[in-house]
Amino acid sequence: MNPLFSTSSLMILESLSFTQTLYAFDFDGTLSRIVRMPGEAKVSSKTDDLLKELAGLVPVAVVSGRSIHDLRERLSFQPPYLVGNHGLEGLDATNDALASAKSACDKWKKALNGVRFDTGVEIEDKVYSLSVHYRRSRKKKKSREFIEQVIAQLQPAPRVIRGKSVFNLLPAGAPHKGIAVLELMQKIGMKHVFYIGDDDTDEDVFSVADSRVMSVRVGKKKSSHARYFIKRQSEVNVLLKKLIRYQRSLNSEKRN
Ligand SMILES: [Mg+2]
Repeated sequence: MNPLFSTSSLMILESLSFTQTLYAFDFDGTLSRIVRMPGEAKVSSKTDDLLKELAGLVPVAVVSGRSIHDLRERLSFQPPYLVGNHGLEGLDATNDALASAKSACDKWKKALNGVRFDTGVEIEDKVYSLSVHYRRSRKKKKSREFIEQVIAQLQPAPRVIRGKSVFNLLPAGAPHKGIAVLELMQKIGMKHVFYIGDDDTDEDVFSVADSRVMSVRVGKKKSSHARYFIKRQSEVNVLLKKLIRYQRSLNSEKRN
């Protein structure tokens, strides 16, 4: 992994503004800080302002495991592209695919509601996917192992994407973020995509072997497939400012 804020990496980042690039951002841990309760996640007003400004200059997407409805309530403006439920929402999923995802979730929810989990384990219903959070559990390891056992019994068998203290349950054929990001790039006619995320679910984007993707991880991690990293979530504002500056100087060059 290379630091994004180095001279050579920044040259590559700036060069993206010369081509048609989609700028895609994960939500939790990237645009917002990680919080104990998923319902409390917020984007700071500074980040919100900067993202809004960037969205006025280039195509911007927020790509998250959250539902689109949930994402909308957490931003002061509507980004042009919102992709929810790891790619099930906001792209071209058919009504049939969405209905079958919803019905699988209903079955899982029913089964999980009958299980006695440790205190601190919470089930989040995102309509087309479910998340089982154990961030607040006191015995995290025990909770994680127990949740794993329970999930293995679910019918229909879900696709499980693990994240930070969370198991995300999706219908078997559902896309992941890597598929979603490439699909969106193509759909809107972009030639490159910049993607930044912080979690295991983002590795699906980082591992896409495609030279059109510039991937950045929030937090350095040896085993990550992301090419670049920033050190911490608070540096996202620095990144947004740079992207805005690149685009503005390019636009003023074009005018002169
Ligand atoms: Mg995240």
